[in-house]
Amino acid sequence: MDVFHEMERIGRMLESRGLILSARSGNMSIRKGDRIFIKRSGAMMGYLKENDIVEADISDEHPEGASVEYKVHRAIYLNTDHTAIIHAHTPYAIVESMDGEDIVPVDAEGRYYFERIPVLNVKEAISSDEVAEKIPAVIKEHGVAIVKGHGTFAAAMTLEDAFSRITEVESACMLRYLRRR
Ligand SMILES: [Zn+2]
Repeated sequence: MDVFHEMERIGRMLESRGLILSARSGNMSIRKGDRIFIKRSGAMMGYLKENDIVEADISDEHPEGASVEYKVHRAIYLNTDHTAIIHAHTPYAIVESMDGEDIVPVDAEGRYYFERIPVLNVKEAISSDEVAEKIPAVIKEHGVAIVKGHGTFAAAMTLEDAFSRITEVESACMLRYLRRR
């Protein structure tokens, strides 16, 4: 699997599905052995170029140019078996997470996938040491987590499966939001 082409393909899908609202937000990574390939900070998820991918060794705490969420991705890789992660500012998940409670889906598909979707209630939401510390255990149990008011993290063995998890969370949150209208 070619890392760049896979990230470029999934980035376009995220963008076209409206899962990335602000063009430079969000990030994704793939782990191969001790190497982490992650989106460059500030690069546009929907329009990735080859030099928008930063390669780092997993021992590296601050690789130059990497996404500001690198520390969160690295913490997940160091504490779980997952090999791909996506973080996106998914609008309905953000809105539904605002009260800081775990989200219980109301639709059949949402309930099939999730008994509840965990919401991380933290003081600092972006590039946060607290998120890096708390999220691995949650991801290990659920595969996904929403950082309150910020966005969704999803981890899997492939980027495509992580993308699928992002859409499953957003679908459950969107339907729950619409149900209340
Ligand atoms: Zn973010």
